Amino acid sequence: MKVCKFGGTSMADAGQISKVMDIVLADPARRMVVVSAPGKRNKGDTKVTDLLIALAEAALAKKDTTKPLKAVIDRYAAIAEGLDLGNEIVAEIRKDLKDRLASSKKDEGVFMDTMKAAGEDNSAKITAVAFRKRGVKCRYANPGDTGMILEGESGNATLVEESYRKLARTFADFEGIVVYPGFFGHRKDGTVATFPRGGSDITGSILAAALRADVYENFTDVDNVYPVDPRIVPEVDEGIDTMTYREMRELAYAGFGVFNDEAIAPAVQGRIPINVRNTNRPSEPGTMIVQSRRVMPGTVTGIACANGFANIIIDKFLMNRKIGFTRRVLDILEEEGVAYEHIPSGIDSISVLIKEAGVPLAKEKKVVARIKRELQPDSVLVTHDYGIVMVVGEGMAFSAGMLAKATGALAEHGINISMVNQGASEISFMLGIKSEDCISAVRALYNAFFNHHRQ
Ligand code: ASP
Repeated sequence: MKVCKFGGTSMADAGQISKVMDIVLADPARRMVVVSAPGKRNKGDTKVTDLLIALAEAALAKKDTTKPLKAVIDRYAAIAEGLDLGNEIVAEIRKDLKDRLASSKKDEGVFMDTMKAAGEDNSAKITAVAFRKRGVKCRYANPGDTGMILEGESGNATLVEESYRKLARTFADFEGIVVYPGFFGHRKDGTVATFPRGGSDITGSILAAALRADVYENFTDVDNVYPVDPRIVPEVDEGIDTMTYREMRELAYAGFGVFNDEAIAPAVQGRIPINVRNTNRPSEPGTMIVQSRRVMPGTVTGIACANGFANIIIDKFLMNRKIGFTRRVLDILEEEGVAYEHIPSGIDSISVLIKEAGVPLAKEKKVVARIKRELQPDSVLVTHDYGIVMVVGEGMAFSAGMLAKATGALAEHGINISMVNQGASEISFMLGIKSEDCISAVRALYNAFFNHHRQ
């Protein structure tokens, strides 16, 4: 059995949803279909999730919601019309949206998630109707009734472990095709909670693990995962055939948007292979993401760059002799509720990299003041607009000269490297650079590691 997930562009309009149905019906193993909310139909378009956020914001601000509500309904009405589904489903969606709008606004986060979830929920309902119209046995499944139990912060919820058992029990033996909305679940108190943006990938991965699928097919709008972001290197033409979970996790962390980084964990846990494929070119085999693969020594799988970090550099002479120094720095971060991303260290210094977006400036200043006061370092320096470029590949392990090639390529372009960090697994290294150098760094590294056969 295959779990297949279709992203926003695959669900954007009637034509795309027809392709989705053709793909599902082409393989009898495709029985669990996870869907996103309708996404962008073209570059200037707006995703239904963003329309719903605007609608929820208008409602919270007690503004007139007629226009933003109509914008959402119009998207579904166009889909229903394009698939010739009749008015009943549109009326059902209109009522659903109105009920959500009338729900409690006491907890604004819960209200926002209730509205956001409408995107995938109604996408799943309308798709199930479309399958039935084609004479296919198909039903919509509600996450709340089937065991997708979440907990934690609104907009950033996580799965409760027992959900795996509940979902497995619900779908132990099911007939026909099930269309399952991605992106949300319910807390134990019945409130709706969503995963972070792009979270339908997570739903698909959870279901694939719970149902012990043979493969988790993730349909999107590109043929493959590419070794580098095609928006940065448009000439990249060869996609990745096979990569490991670890490689995908590292690249997704540093900005490979094709697959949500949190979505890898459930598939890894269940050892389910992931296949990233293109709804618009279903004959392409796509990229397989698996536990292990044969590697060519000395090869790189992908290069990614993330920016928007702040780097707190703490110097203290003889730091190596000060037992507990790093722990005390980390205690301060924990007490202030600040998550760190990396802590590369030198003999007399450590750097703490944090994501600027997640830590308000006032909080950062407080952390620095506490470090100065409580640890009496020689200096604490904070640099902003810091970027990291990651070079990733299982083939890099035990291969000499990989870092030299990377640093040489950056040197040729006059890009200064202010930090180097390589994990003990040797499957990746990270170079700290200025945010403004990120794009040129990725291009230089791509040319060094991938473009040599064309030179
Ligand atoms: N619709 C949600 C978003 O736009 C979730 C998803 O598509 O995966 O983020």
